[in-house]
Amino acid sequence: MRVERVDMRLVGDGSGEGVLAYADIVLAGEEARLLVRELRIVRIPGGMVIVGMPSKQVRRKCESCQMKCPAASSWCPWCGARQEGKPSRMYPETPHGGRLYFDVLYPMSLESRDWLDAPIMKAYEEARAAQASQAGGEATDGDAGHATPRG
Ligand SMILES: [Zn+2]
Repeated sequence: MRVERVDMRLVGDGSGEGVLAYADIVLAGEEARLLVRELRIVRIPGGMVIVGMPSKQVRRKCESCQMKCPAASSWCPWCGARQEGKPSRMYPETPHGGRLYFDVLYPMSLESRDWLDAPIMKAYEEARAAQASQAGGEATDGDAGHATPRG
């Protein structure tokens, strides 16, 4: 299996923290081709840039209004009712604003992580280089970034 294709959607100019880009990828092997959506290129506090796996928010039903609420929230955001009890044994409470996420795609070894990250980071660097060279062609204020020629 290999990462056959990476579709990159840049967010902003890449200078800030948080999500720098979203990526959809195609994993291709002899027997199947799989599309995986919404991987994220993220700059974490400290400056390191990582590939974030697509994730899903864990939710549960409010006993008062029956609307779906963040699993770890103590209060229903729809009706304000207090949510009793532990949200889930599988997904214990977290301090992240009452929200709770889990990865829906998870590399199960460091080798798998590297295998997945490398082509995505390469596509990200190429997309940023293309963005910088476009900006450099239009603007002449000097500090628009310098794309290295590819060869
Ligand atoms: Zn409710």
